[in-house]
Amino acid sequence: MSAGDAPEEPRDIRRARRALEQGHVESALGLAWRIAGRAAPRGDEATLGLLAPLAGEIERQADDGSRAEAARLNVFVSRCLDDVRAGVPHSSPFSFVFGRPGEVRLKTCPECAETVRREARVCRYCGHRFEPPLAAGS
Ligand SMILES: [Zn+2]
Repeated sequence: MSAGDAPEEPRDIRRARRALEQGHVESALGLAWRIAGRAAPRGDEATLGLLAPLAGEIERQADDGSRAEAARLNVFVSRCLDDVRAGVPHSSPFSFVFGRPGEVRLKTCPECAETVRREARVCRYCGHRFEPPLAAGS
C-alpha cells in the first residue's frame, strides 16, 4: 500500500494512537491537535474521519489535567468533520479553540454514551438517530 499521494496524517495518527496506548495521553493529544490543525483547513475528510475515534479515545483516557483540552479536541474534530461532510468551509482551528470556547454544546448519546455535538442528528460512533430538535431552523 504505497499510493503516490499517501498523506502524512495516517502515520501521525498511528503515532498518536501508540502514544495513547503507552499512556502518554498528553503526547497523543498534542499530536492529534497538530493533525487536526492541518486537516481542518484543507477539509481533509479522510484524515478527520480517522482522527475522530482517536480523539474520543483520548478524551476517555484523559486525566483531570487534560480532559478539558481533550474534550475540546474531540468537539473540534467532530465539528470539522460534520462541516466537511456538509460542505461548509471551515475556519482556522485556532479561532474555534480560542475564540469561542463557551459555545460548544454537547450531548451524550443514549445508545453508546459517547459525547457528540448537540446539533448532531446521528451519533458518529454508533449511528444512533437522535430526535429532531424542536425548533429546527433553515
Ligand atoms: Zn452513539
